[in-house]
Amino acid sequence: MAQVRVRFAPSPTGPLHIGGVRTALYNYLFAKKNNGVFILRIEDTDQARFVEGAEEYIMESLEWCGMKVDEGIREGGAYGPYRQSDRQAIYRQYADMLVEKGDAYYAFDTPEQLEIMRGESEKEGKTFIYNASVREKLNNSISLNKPEWEEKLRKGEAYVIRYRMPADQEIHFDDIIRGHIVVNTSTLDDKVLFKSDGMPTYHLANIVDDHLMKISHVIRGEEWLPSLPLHFMLYRSFGWDPPLFSHLPLLLKPDGKGKLSKRDGDKMGFPVFPLYWPYGETAKGYREDGYYPEAFVNMLALLGWNPGTEQELFSIKELIEAFSIDRVGKSGSRFDPDKAKWFNHQYLQKRSNNQLAIEFRELLRSHGIFVDIVELESLVALVKERASFVKDLWEQTDFFFKAPDTYDPEVIKKRWKEETAGQLNELKALLEKIDDFSSASTEPVVKDWIEKKGYNIGAIMNAFRLVIVGASRGPHMFDIIEWIGKEETLRRIEKGVSIITR
Ligand code: GLU
Repeated sequence: MAQVRVRFAPSPTGPLHIGGVRTALYNYLFAKKNNGVFILRIEDTDQARFVEGAEEYIMESLEWCGMKVDEGIREGGAYGPYRQSDRQAIYRQYADMLVEKGDAYYAFDTPEQLEIMRGESEKEGKTFIYNASVREKLNNSISLNKPEWEEKLRKGEAYVIRYRMPADQEIHFDDIIRGHIVVNTSTLDDKVLFKSDGMPTYHLANIVDDHLMKISHVIRGEEWLPSLPLHFMLYRSFGWDPPLFSHLPLLLKPDGKGKLSKRDGDKMGFPVFPLYWPYGETAKGYREDGYYPEAFVNMLALLGWNPGTEQELFSIKELIEAFSIDRVGKSGSRFDPDKAKWFNHQYLQKRSNNQLAIEFRELLRSHGIFVDIVELESLVALVKERASFVKDLWEQTDFFFKAPDTYDPEVIKKRWKEETAGQLNELKALLEKIDDFSSASTEPVVKDWIEKKGYNIGAIMNAFRLVIVGASRGPHMFDIIEWIGKEETLRRIEKGVSIITR
């Protein structure tokens, strides 16, 4: 096989949707698996849709996900430039080549004329398709004679160059995921290849660039499947070998009803973009929501591809090893925000206590809390099981850093009895006498005392938790008091009893 060269070819029209990130990822995995080259090409021929900041956003997203670009606008490469607007001078000659061959032609129809034609077809109950069925009746270099259209060109009349789709022909082509496809050309229109603004359209630029950049495989979203017959025809007209095509299935909304759209995130409360988008209508990102890039990438990889085993957790290296296009499905994959969280939970559990403590320390600093890293390691170990994100660690541990100011009234109502204050004062006296405040040392002493006194263990422990934590939550009680220490434990019992009994 010739060298594998694949490209991710986004248009910089806004933030990159996670469906786009998945397309990039499959290209990346396929390239790396086959010792190939991963190219980033910016397709910005549609200047009207260009959005400032989108190009940087795309590159930053790939970088965050760990997809290193081999050739691109920043990296350079032997087949550059990699931004289509910088390649403008290249395309015209290819459009001319097709005109010369008779596979493309000049069309002078104004938008108003086309509108009229559309209206007339509608009246007859037909859809207007600009192709062999009507082109002779329209205003172009096929219907007009040569001196006429040459005169128009000379006078500088506005025109586009259209592909001359042959009439009533069956075209056969293949897609790695979809298999063999047959389309009759009479259903296709004479697509514009070159616009009056001197820019190629997506179709022409895309085919010319894939050819010049020696792209071996095109892996892209399903929305481009309808363009595939035209693309095959263009390769045929140019006399070039087409690359192999794979059209990826759609990402669906969590309820499976329709395509996951850019707006769904806001509506359903989860991000649909990898990073926060700061311009205009801002949007949430996975990075800022606290996802690890490894977890995000792992989750995305499995939305459409399956390894054929039960394995769900894959490092990027393992993904590269396991990936194959054959195992990408045809049907859409439903996006599941809970599963995304599950992945992050798994990756957080895999982190060492030291790594987590370092990450957590950053967050604590923003709360004005400064704690020694070794102490944080022991704290993180107590609660990490319940956390899916670093920010959850804070929700699980806030009471470690400061005594409660309020006490859950529900718990008081249910647990606080006549005798509770007295019992907690006894407990305080008992703890005061213990020097070794480790969990292993305090637990048996306290339990012994409860048993000897014939107290109800549930009642004591719940009240104890209430004065230490302020509510009925948190890890093992004796682990908590070990971490906050003897002085603080005694202070909290005293404070709690006095406030609750007031
Ligand atoms: N520029 C197209 C897009 O934005 C690329 C389609 C393709 O990969 O051919 O999706």
